Parts: sequence; C-alpha cells; structure tokens
Amino acid sequence: MKYFETEAIRTQAERSQFSEHSTPLYLTSSFIFDDAEDMRASFAEEKEKNLYSRFSNPNTSEFVEKVCKLEGAESGYAFATGMAAIFSTLGALLNAGDHVVSCRSVFGSSHTLFTKFFPKWNISTSYFKVNEVDIIESLIQPNTKILFAETPTNPAVDILDLKFLGEIAKKHNLLLVIDNCFATPYLQQPIKFGADLVIHSATKLIDGQGRVLGGITIGKASLIREIYLFSRNTGPAMSPFNAWVLSKSLETLSVRVDRHCENALKIAIFLEDHPRVELVKYPFLKSHPQYKIAKQQMKLGGNIVAFEISGGIISGRQFLDKIKMCSLSANLGDTRTIVTHPASTTHSKLSTEDRLEVGITAGLVRVSVGLENSKDIIDDLKQALES
Ligand SMILES: *Cc1c(COP(=O)(O)O)cnc(C)c1O
Repeated sequence: MKYFETEAIRTQAERSQFSEHSTPLYLTSSFIFDDAEDMRASFAEEKEKNLYSRFSNPNTSEFVEKVCKLEGAESGYAFATGMAAIFSTLGALLNAGDHVVSCRSVFGSSHTLFTKFFPKWNISTSYFKVNEVDIIESLIQPNTKILFAETPTNPAVDILDLKFLGEIAKKHNLLLVIDNCFATPYLQQPIKFGADLVIHSATKLIDGQGRVLGGITIGKASLIREIYLFSRNTGPAMSPFNAWVLSKSLETLSVRVDRHCENALKIAIFLEDHPRVELVKYPFLKSHPQYKIAKQQMKLGGNIVAFEISGGIISGRQFLDKIKMCSLSANLGDTRTIVTHPASTTHSKLSTEDRLEVGITAGLVRVSVGLENSKDIIDDLKQALES
C-alpha cells in the first residue's frame, strides 16, 4: 500500500477472535497478564504489550499508526486535545533556561503558553512576524532549542515557507516543530521539508464533524520517546473512545478535505468579486502574497477563507448578525460552515496593535468552509453582505 486513501482505510488494529471488519472500541482502562514473568517482561518493555490506557490502547495505537503512515513519521503519541499535544511536546523537550523562536501568528493558547506560563520555568520566547522571516536567524541565541510555527496561520491564512524553516533549523541545530492543524495530513507533510515534529489538533478537520477533541504529535522516534515518557507520567492521553472516532474519521479525510477545498476556492472567488469585500486571503488564489509557496507545499488550499469587509468593526458585527444558515461558533473544520469576526469576538481582548501583529484587521472575517452545497453557502454570505 502506498496511496494516502488506502493507508487511511486499511491501516487497522489486529483483528480479535471475533474477526470484526471494522475496528471495535476497546473501552478498557487496563490489560491483563498471563503470569508474573509476562507482567515483568511487559513492564520492562521487553515485549510490546498494552499495560494501561494512559500508556497505550489498541484504539489510540491504531490512530497514531495511521497518522504516522500518512505523514511519513517514525512514531507518535495521541493526546486528549491539540493543546495537550503542544504543551506536552514542548514540556517534554524544553529545560529551564531554554529559548524558543516562534512565529507570532500561532494559535491563541500556544501564544499564552509561551508568554504567560513558560516564563514560570524560565523558558523564554522570541517572535517573528509572518512577513519578516528574514529576521529569524537574528533571534537565535545559544540557548535556543526549538523553532515553532504554524502554516497556514490562524485566522489570517498566511503561509510560511516550510523548506526555508527546515533549512534554518538544520543550520542552527534547532528542532523544527510545526502545528499542521489547518493543513491536515492530507494537504501538507512538514516532515518532508525538514520538520522534526508535527502537531495536530485532531478536533478540527481530522474529526471534521465537530464531535470530539483530540491531538497528536508525530515525528522522530527518539523525540517521541521523550514525549511519551513525559506524557505517560503526566496524564494527557487521548481516550480510547476519541481515538476510535478519530481513526474512523481518517478513513474519509481525503474525500472530505477535497470537497472542503473545492467549496472554499469557489467561495474565495465569489468574495473576491464582491464590491463590499476589500481583500480576500486564500492560499490557492493567485492574489495571495505567498501563493507560490502554498502551491509548492500544499496539495490544495485548505478550508479557511479570510476576507476584509469594508466598514471595519461595525460592519463585521453587522455581517455576523445577518448570517442565516452558517454557524457563529469558535470551532473550525466542521461539516457546517462557521463564520467568525475575530476583532469583536475571539480576539476582542487584545489591543488593536496586538491584533494587527497577527493580521487581524477590524473588518477581518474568517470563514471555515463546510460541506454544504457551495451555492447555499454563497447565497448566505451574499445576502449578509448585501443587507
Ligand atoms: C484548535 C487549534 C489548536 C488547539 O487544539 P484543541 O484541540 O482545541 O486543544 C492548536 N492549534 C491550532 C492551529 C488550532 O486551530
């Protein structure tokens, strides 16, 4: 097997004595041993055996194995949420006194972790903006250990050049850690460009149906081993139930994401032609500032479209109030199209200056394009723009 779709469907936990076709749910907190020797050897890791579901479980192992195959990773570990994956990965690898270089446009909670919590352990962070990647090398210090970034970024849908980041990390002996949530394993495989570790919030497009939370880190086996030892003792493991749901979700990831991207491109083109829209950001629109890089590293443009509505904050809020079908929600990557206006909602606590640092202008609207018929999505956006 070598094709994405086939691996996503045919990678399965070993069948039990019941010869099930679809992997069953293994709701068990622990596993039993034949005798004292079996138990000793299992705990000594002389055998590969499930001991306790905080360490591993057939459902989480199937989910991890699948994502590793899809992204070309050696190993991985599944977490309860995307943030558990980010915290545990960095927590396992960083020591007091270490330094991180990160893009400023990262998920809000990642930024909070870097600025509010890591300083408690004397771990510091320096930021570069998406449009100033040429200063990255000047931010590197003797104690810098990790280069962290997310692409496409949230919510402004900017693109960072993964090959370029991979080269810098290699040259300076840093670990490159990429939050690949917006792209999914289907659209982008950062390991090919030199990433040491890749993190996903599986809550988003991997589940894709707004049901469960989850996270995963995959990458080099030696690093995953450190992350595993940290995590099996600190407890952020994914539940077997969520792993079962998410592993099934992966079976349909490619068809879902194909349609998400097809819809998103249609919506981006519609918005680009609309007189009330000042600017549209979508990686696969020729007008996107990093269109060429997006084409090199992504299979398709993803499901997030950002646009600037004329009239600023007030127009953004009015636009949300006029929306009839699409959902107003904080999630993304659902079957249902979701519309948000970051300046008046998710990012309203930030100062205007801080918002601009991550590309959130007053009239920026983010659309997580769903799987409804694209004509219905366009009709809803159109009536909200025009009323
Ligand atoms: C949602 C999200 C996260 C956090 O994931 P949770 O599953 O909500 O903890 C991290 N990074 C990105 C880019 C996200 O969109």
